[in-house]
Amino acid sequence: MKPPPPKIPDAFLRALPQGISLVEHHGQGFLAVGSVRCPAGHELIDEDVRIHGQPSIRFAIDTGASRGRIYVDPFWGGHDKLYDFIPVATRTQPVLRASCPECGASLIARRTCGVPGCTCEEAILLTLPDGRNRIWVCARLGCAGHHFEVADLPSVISAVLDDINYYTQDDDIFHGI
Ligand SMILES: [Zn+2]
Ligand SMILES: [Zn+2]
Repeated sequence: MKPPPPKIPDAFLRALPQGISLVEHHGQGFLAVGSVRCPAGHELIDEDVRIHGQPSIRFAIDTGASRGRIYVDPFWGGHDKLYDFIPVATRTQPVLRASCPECGASLIARRTCGVPGCTCEEAILLTLPDGRNRIWVCARLGCAGHHFEVADLPSVISAVLDDINYYTQDDDIFHGI
């Protein structure tokens, strides 16, 4: 039996930050990221590479064993992705280096992951166009930890958003991102 779809808080839907939209997909409403920036302000959305029909989030990554560009699911809580390189499996779960494909600025910032069992203290930081709402993605390969830092709403809203995860059945080595 499939679990019911996660509920997006009404307060968040009433005041969606710039760069986030509600997208109907297979009869269900999903939050989709439509604009996120590097620290220098470069757009990280790639209109040409689409996942679930939506423009993907693109950045450069280095796992230590391989490097290239990754295109990440723009649906909040989705974990599908594409690469322009062949990811090499590693025995450990390294902490990824992530950077802007335009200017090379690091997207890594300090944040302790909230997922039980994950002690990673670094996250990939994606900034929405207003510069105040921000998305943090755990940098540990294989961890699904993500945090929506909502500027103008109570932290309980962030907590509900952070619990939204749509797991797909794949054996992708980058499953978590
Ligand atoms: Zn940049
Ligand atoms: Zn984590």
